[in-house]
Amino acid sequence: MMGGMAEGDTILRAKHRLADALVGQSIAVATPNPRGRAAGVERLDGRTLEGIDAHGKHLLFDFGDLVLHSHLGMSGGWHVYPRAARWRRPRSSAWVVLGGERQDAVQFGGPTLRVLPASRVAIDPQLARLGPDILAPDLDLDAVVASFRAADQSRTLGDALLDQRLTAGIGNIFKSEACFGARVDPWRPLSQVTDEELRTVLDQARAQMLNAVKAGGRHRFAVYKHRGPCGRCRGPVRHRGQGDANRTTWWCERCQV
Ligand SMILES: [Zn+2]
Repeated sequence: MMGGMAEGDTILRAKHRLADALVGQSIAVATPNPRGRAAGVERLDGRTLEGIDAHGKHLLFDFGDLVLHSHLGMSGGWHVYPRAARWRRPRSSAWVVLGGERQDAVQFGGPTLRVLPASRVAIDPQLARLGPDILAPDLDLDAVVASFRAADQSRTLGDALLDQRLTAGIGNIFKSEACFGARVDPWRPLSQVTDEELRTVLDQARAQMLNAVKAGGRHRFAVYKHRGPCGRCRGPVRHRGQGDANRTTWWCERCQV
């Protein structure tokens, strides 16, 4: 089950669970909440789900020449239930139900749910602007470092890590955790972060998120929402809103320089 802040690791886990439940099957679509009907997802009813792609925090369900695009934002979640099981949220708040042979996948909430032609995915403004997925098996870290170098160098590191156009998939949790793992102060402007440090931070984000996928929600965080002194140096762990969106960053003032 997933909810709260959906970052790339959570999305990848959801993708595996959804794929296990539904791929290769003819899907019965239901839209208990009007939001799903407005998205036109009934057009997918009876089609075969051929695969699911995760890109950053986006999920793309491949229905042949049509694609279902879902983004969960801060509030959305995908749940998978055995047929006839009790749901953990009211049916009226389900935007879409994708019914497979034995299980139902249900999206509750989230900013994006829409159907688009497969031919449009590559040129869609919302999707084409995304940077390389931090969890992509063939990630080219040098290319990601280059995209950070091409960005406004007065931006702080913690703020830039959330920019999905530079790299897709890092959210508020792993922004903080990756900087801690790399011992780099997230408040430094990019102009004062070396290529080597950037590479280490991105490496940390990727490794930690892949670990979190394996841990299946039992992953423990070092600084994110951490109470008390730093587990590494006993220095003070601070938190403060960062960037235009004022997203809270957690960091150790002593061992992240
Ligand atoms: Zn510390």
